[in-house]
Amino acid sequence: MTIDQFNFSGKKAFVRVDFNVPLDENFNITDDTRIRAALPTLKKILADGGSLIIGSHLGRPKGVADKFSLKHILNHVSEKLGVEVQFANDCMGEEAAVKAAALQPGEALLLENLRFYAEEEGKPRGLAEDATDEEKAAAKKAVKESQKEFTKKLASYADCYVNDAFGTAHRAHASTALIAKYFDKDHKMFGYLMEKEVKAVDKVLNDIQRPFTAIMGGSKVSSKIEIIENLLNKVDNLIIAGGMTYTFTKAQGGKIGISICEDDKLDLALDLMKKAQEKGVNLVLAVDAKVADSFSNDANTKFCPVNEIPDGWEGLDIGPETEKIFADVIKGSKTILWNGPTGVFEFDNFTHGSRAVGEAIVEATKNGAFSLVGGGDSVACVNKFGLASGVSYVSTGGGALLEAIEGKILPGIAAINE
Ligand code: AMP
Repeated sequence: MTIDQFNFSGKKAFVRVDFNVPLDENFNITDDTRIRAALPTLKKILADGGSLIIGSHLGRPKGVADKFSLKHILNHVSEKLGVEVQFANDCMGEEAAVKAAALQPGEALLLENLRFYAEEEGKPRGLAEDATDEEKAAAKKAVKESQKEFTKKLASYADCYVNDAFGTAHRAHASTALIAKYFDKDHKMFGYLMEKEVKAVDKVLNDIQRPFTAIMGGSKVSSKIEIIENLLNKVDNLIIAGGMTYTFTKAQGGKIGISICEDDKLDLALDLMKKAQEKGVNLVLAVDAKVADSFSNDANTKFCPVNEIPDGWEGLDIGPETEKIFADVIKGSKTILWNGPTGVFEFDNFTHGSRAVGEAIVEATKNGAFSLVGGGDSVACVNKFGLASGVSYVSTGGGALLEAIEGKILPGIAAINE
């Protein structure tokens, strides 16, 4: 079932959204992107004459905590949605059930933070640090048992289930995946945001126009191994950038000064290079670096070959020659995936490489390439440079996007498709 096929008239929809927005110390929302991203789905249901039971998590509470209450965002959600949203102080219990049952077409109810209950994630809480393995196992079993009741209760509020929380699609939580079992395939569906995310991921994994180039940046190889290995089966060009660069450089015998490096991953770097060669993938590594004499925006800087970094200096961005090499590869591509900056983009003096990559992607996109940007800091990066509107799709998913690209089946997606 798709959201466009479904007529919500007279129906109550449990919609799992990702309203995990950043709040300042006065509980003002500092970035409401995630709320805005869910609006098309929520508005469509109301416009059809349906009613909304909205479920979300906020932060990582270990139990009930005012700091993580969704009441802080209630007014903002009402304002954006254009209806006065009701609030249930507890996602379980009488109040939520009664309020959900009383909803009239066009009305909306926001449930309190689902993660106030350990059952949402299905992980035991409050275990003593010295708990034995048996105690841990018993606690796990107990929470898994009560998770069934919790999930069933959430499902009982509604006639249909809509998942629009891509950010948590890689988690098999009660409201993101398990709840789907309580609805048949004609009564569960993705929301619009989720649909777009799933389509974008599908395009770079299964519907590839070539050449396909992935740009993997960020700090560590270790956090990206599985993605890199999966991508080696898919891409024509794999650009390695960011802090990972220096592990590859050192592995080949280069001098990297005090640049970030994972010494226990040198063999892995060589292995990845060998695999790339065997698979005919063009692995593109930096040839020069912008180096600094301290990890600071105000450090002294210079450019040097990536394998001749002087002692006491560290590479904090790619150099101009590398920018040109990367840009040429990107501009010649028809499918592009970008994850992770080329340098420490949080420091203004080390943004040049990431900006150059972003601009090359925008140009390639203008020339007909499909470009997907997402995961970790990539979104902050394109936003910082004002390039978001020039790429085909900016994913809202961090971990979820990366796991999808690793080739994993995301529980939140599988639960709808089953
Ligand atoms: P990730 O979360 O793995 O995508 O990594 C993003 C982080 O990598 C950002 O905070 C960057 O500042 C950092 N990073 C990128 N290049 C370097 C570098 N050359 N040295 C240290 N950190 C880096």
